[in-house]
Amino acid sequence: MSNAVITFENVEKNFGALKVLKGISGNIHRGEVIAIIGSSGCGKSTLLRCFNRLETINTGNLTVNGIDLSHPKLHRNVLRQLRTQVGMVFQQFNLFPHLTVLQNLTLAQRQVLGKTPSESTQLAKQYLDKVGLFDKAESYPEQLSGGQKQRVAIARSLCMNPQIMLFDEPTSALDPELVGEVLQVMQQLATEGMTMVVVTHEMQFAREVANRVFFMDSGIILEQGTPQQVIQNPKHERLRNFMSRLK
Ligand code: ADP
Ligand code: MG
Repeated sequence: MSNAVITFENVEKNFGALKVLKGISGNIHRGEVIAIIGSSGCGKSTLLRCFNRLETINTGNLTVNGIDLSHPKLHRNVLRQLRTQVGMVFQQFNLFPHLTVLQNLTLAQRQVLGKTPSESTQLAKQYLDKVGLFDKAESYPEQLSGGQKQRVAIARSLCMNPQIMLFDEPTSALDPELVGEVLQVMQQLATEGMTMVVVTHEMQFAREVANRVFFMDSGIILEQGTPQQVIQNPKHERLRNFMSRLK
């Protein structure tokens, strides 16, 4: 389809003898929010990591924002281009502990995009404000709550002006009372039209924010459709079992 920003076709990914992605196919359109659900170990993180080349696929075709990721070798300039276009937020935040919040947000802008200190600081403060943390610019990560750290991580990604945002269980490491503030920032991003791929166990978020839900089961997408179809009316037995285990 013409407005697909991610297309993958018969993608396989192995770790040695372990087949993790088993000929998986799908596409994601500009402005779509995709929730990926499925049991632990089914390959959700691996698929997401293929999208920004943290993993290289073994066979099949993968194109992300016009960049062909099917080949085992990628020029480092293309890789850099990909990494700025595709932001990623991890379960464990991955902030630099020895840098302030502001420094966390300006580092890649300066080193990768070549921005001046004042340009990068200005944009960083704009995004800190957006995630409600303007007053934490001079704090260090350890001085923040988990929810605040994750909002900083999101702001840091946004500073690169990405076209696509990948989220790998962004709220799984948080105390329950801090989940909402992170989901709210993500919901806002979705409303603004960001293309988002979100691995999550938050079914309410998937139901309310996702345009489509992919249910992964041992290395393939077993079922996909609107939240209404996948979450409310699951067709496959394995999806029904998965849903019932969540409750
Ligand atoms: P999920 O995110 O759905 O829980 P993952 O994609 O993380 O699943 O992992 C899928 C399978 O691949 C698991 O069996 C996991 O142990 C394995 N795996 C993931 N990354 C690696 C790696 N770097 N080396 C070897 N095995 C891996
Ligand atoms: Mg995972």
